[in-house]
Amino acid sequence: MDDLRDLYQEVILDHGKNPRNFRHPDDCNRQAEGDNPLCGDQLIVYLKLDADGTVADVAFEGRGCAISMASASMMTEMVQGHSEADARSLFDKFHKLVTGHEDDIDGDVDDLDKLIALSGVREFPMRVKCATLAWHTMTAAMDGEQSVTTE
Ligand code: ZN
Repeated sequence: MDDLRDLYQEVILDHGKNPRNFRHPDDCNRQAEGDNPLCGDQLIVYLKLDADGTVADVAFEGRGCAISMASASMMTEMVQGHSEADARSLFDKFHKLVTGHEDDIDGDVDDLDKLIALSGVREFPMRVKCATLAWHTMTAAMDGEQSVTTE
C-alpha cells in the first residue's frame, strides 16, 4: 500500500510540476474561470467543442496548489477527443471517488485511470475543492457559464 501511495504521489507531482495542455488555444469556443478562494487556486479552462459535441481541444491556464494543477492537467488529458457526455460522466465518477462515494459509481471504475491517484483527497475535505475545481470549470464552460467558484 505504501508503494502504491508513492506511485500516486509521483503522478501528482509530475502533473503538478509539468502540467499538460497548459496553454491558451487560439480557436477555443468556450471558456470559463474557476476560483477556489479557500486555497487560492484560480484557473481558466478553454474548450473547443465540435458541432457534434466532441471535445476537439481542451487546455487551461492558471495557478494554484499542486493538487489543483495536477487535477486540471489530468482532466485535459482525459477528456481530449471524447464527447461532452463522456466528459461529464467521467466528472461524475471522479466526484464520487474523491467524496468517498465510489460505491455509487455507475459502470467501470477503471475508466478513472490515473485520476485514482487523487483519491487520497477524500480524507481532506478542503482538498476535494482543489481536486474538483478544473472539472467544475470545464462543465461550467460547457454550460456556457463564465465563471464558477467553490464557495
Ligand atoms: Zn488548492
